[in-house]
Formats: sequence, structure tokens, C-alpha cells
Amino acid sequence: MGTLYLVPTPIGNLGDMTMRALEVLKTVDLIAAEDTRHTQQLLNHFGIKQKLVSLHEHNHEQRVPQLLAALQAGQQIAQCSDAGMPSISDPGKELVAAATKAGIPVVALPGPNAALTALIASGLVPQPFTFYGFLERKHQQQVTALTALRDRPETLIFYEAPHRLKKTLQTMAEVFGPQRRVVLARELTKRYEEYLRGNLGEAVAWAESEPVRGEFVVLVAGNDHPTPTAAADTSSPTEAIDAAIA
Ligand code: SAM
Repeated sequence: MGTLYLVPTPIGNLGDMTMRALEVLKTVDLIAAEDTRHTQQLLNHFGIKQKLVSLHEHNHEQRVPQLLAALQAGQQIAQCSDAGMPSISDPGKELVAAATKAGIPVVALPGPNAALTALIASGLVPQPFTFYGFLERKHQQQVTALTALRDRPETLIFYEAPHRLKKTLQTMAEVFGPQRRVVLARELTKRYEEYLRGNLGEAVAWAESEPVRGEFVVLVAGNDHPTPTAAADTSSPTEAIDAAIA
């Protein structure tokens, strides 16, 4: 039986490739990559010659059984996405689920990840946190998802594409209120890395004032003053009065 290795790759800075990741990519029998051309460039940079097959959201139904059969036949397989950790808002989870179900050893390598990198430098409370990934694209679906998160006390972490950032920040300000603290972590590990810290009203004004470029993680502070809702108040009127008297 082979082993499935989950190999994180740089999110911008090639210096973040780990020695162990290089060793695994060099020595496995096959690499399953989100985009073989992208991963080929990474391999070229490090002088690695390796067999590649694609594994992404449009072919996983056919590809996962093939990869599973190869693992069962004893092949060592590495899986990686274009950037960061496989399976984190990226392809991989179906292969991992199939491998674990079949009793195949799965070894994850630690490495680059945009969400956690942004979180530890954000200045927001680092735990607990909720990693949401990409929000739904339609406005109403975003409103529904954000409304469900509005009163949560933990830090919220989102990924967003640059061309949707302005609208998403506007919707966040609408649902969470313009005073909620936010950190935009931009171009992490790259030359123009920066953190924009402020509240959602300021973030919207910034996004409206200039073209939004680069990659972003959006971190929203948890709600430290949740609005009491009827559902959240489980005490009966008499319990409340008893408590007031006591
Ligand atoms: N698998 C990746 C990880 O582990 O972080 C995430 C891949 S997801 C398809 C791409 C999103 O991650 C981007 O739209 C952005 O929100 C975030 N991201 C990736 N690289 C980034 C970077 N260098 N700086 C800021 N955000 C980044």
C-alpha cells in the first residue's frame, strides 16, 4: 500500500518551500496537481523531474478512483494545489476522504497557508476563530451567510478575489455594521505585503477609492456586543425576576 502525501506550496514566496516538501515531491511516484502547468513551473524552479496528473474540481470524480487504485497498488503519491495547503479552499478533500476510507496512510506536511499567516499577524484575537474561506457570490446568499455569523464572538477569516472585494466589504459593513474591526492582509509573503487595519466603514472607503489589486485575506473581529435575540434568551420571566431579586 502506498502513502498519500499532502504537500503545501508557496503562496507567493518560493523561499517558503520546505526541504521536506521538496524531498517528497522528488521521491514520490506521481504528483496529483490542481494545475499541472503551474506545478511544473514550481518543479522546474527547484530542478525536480516528476510525473504529474491533474486533480481539480472538474475531474475529481474520474481521477480519485484512478489515484486510489494506484495507491492501493503501492504507489507513493503527492497531492498539491497551486498555492498553500491542498484542500483549504482548494482541491484535495475528495481524494483524502477516499484514501482515509480505504485505510491508506495520509501524511500532511506543514507549510504555507494564507489564513493562518494572516491571522497571527492581524492583531486580532487568534483563537477561537472561524475559517469560512470564500463567501457565496450572490448578494442575498452572502447576506444570509454573514447574518448567521454576525453575533459570533470569535475572529472570522475569509478569502476573497480582488475583483469581488469591494462588494463583499460593502455587504459585510451592511450586515456587521461599519464600526466592526477588520484587517485586510494583502499579498502575503510577496514584495508588496501589507496589512490594512481599521473598521469596515474605513475598509469600504478604501476599496471604493482605488482599484483593488492583489490577493487578500479578510479578517473580521468577533462580536463583543452581540444583540440579544429572543432565541438566545432561554430564561423564563420568573427566573429573570428571581435572579434580579437575588
Ligand atoms: N490553499 C490556499 C491556502 O492554503 O491558503 C488558498 C487558496 S484559495 C484558492 C486563494 C485565496 O487565498 C485568495 O483568493 C486569497 O483570498 C488567499 N490568498 C492566497 N495567497 C495569498 C496571499 N499571498 N496573500 C493574501 N491572500 C492570499
